[in-house]
Amino acid sequence: MANYKGHIAGGLIAGVTVAITISVFPSEQLAKSTGLIHEWQFLASILIISMLFGLFPDVDTNSKAQDIFFGIVFPLDIVLIWQGYIEAAAFLGLIAMLPIIGHHRGWTHKKWAMFVVPLPILLIPYLYNDKIILASAIYYSVAVAGYFSHLLLDGLILKRFKIKN
Ligand SMILES: [Zn+2]
Repeated sequence: MANYKGHIAGGLIAGVTVAITISVFPSEQLAKSTGLIHEWQFLASILIISMLFGLFPDVDTNSKAQDIFFGIVFPLDIVLIWQGYIEAAAFLGLIAMLPIIGHHRGWTHKKWAMFVVPLPILLIPYLYNDKIILASAIYYSVAVAGYFSHLLLDGLILKRFKIKN
């Protein structure tokens, strides 16, 4: 198992890879439909999301990853509540609770989890807008990429990429 630094690096690399892939698309169209693509917040969001999901699977155990994850999620949740994003805050709180259910290297380290755990990013804006929002589709891809990097580094995807702790 890679340590938390390895997982942060893995998550960031995954996020940057997705960001570079996205930048290949005609950016004008993307800028229009996301409204954010050229802004630093967008890149910052990509990096934060990929890092958080790169750490997420180890949140099921008392680890540095858990400290960092809740160290970011807790103040973020307070900011969301303070700014009036109550639904987002509620869902963030719900997601943050999930890892405590189950044992270490249980369901959070399953391959299906990398697609299922980030699903609220895709589904919640869909439920509120009745259509898939491009920005949320991008954030979802970023989250899956970050999650994937964790499972890869844990040796759960391809054994030869496994990094020793
Ligand atoms: Zn792990």
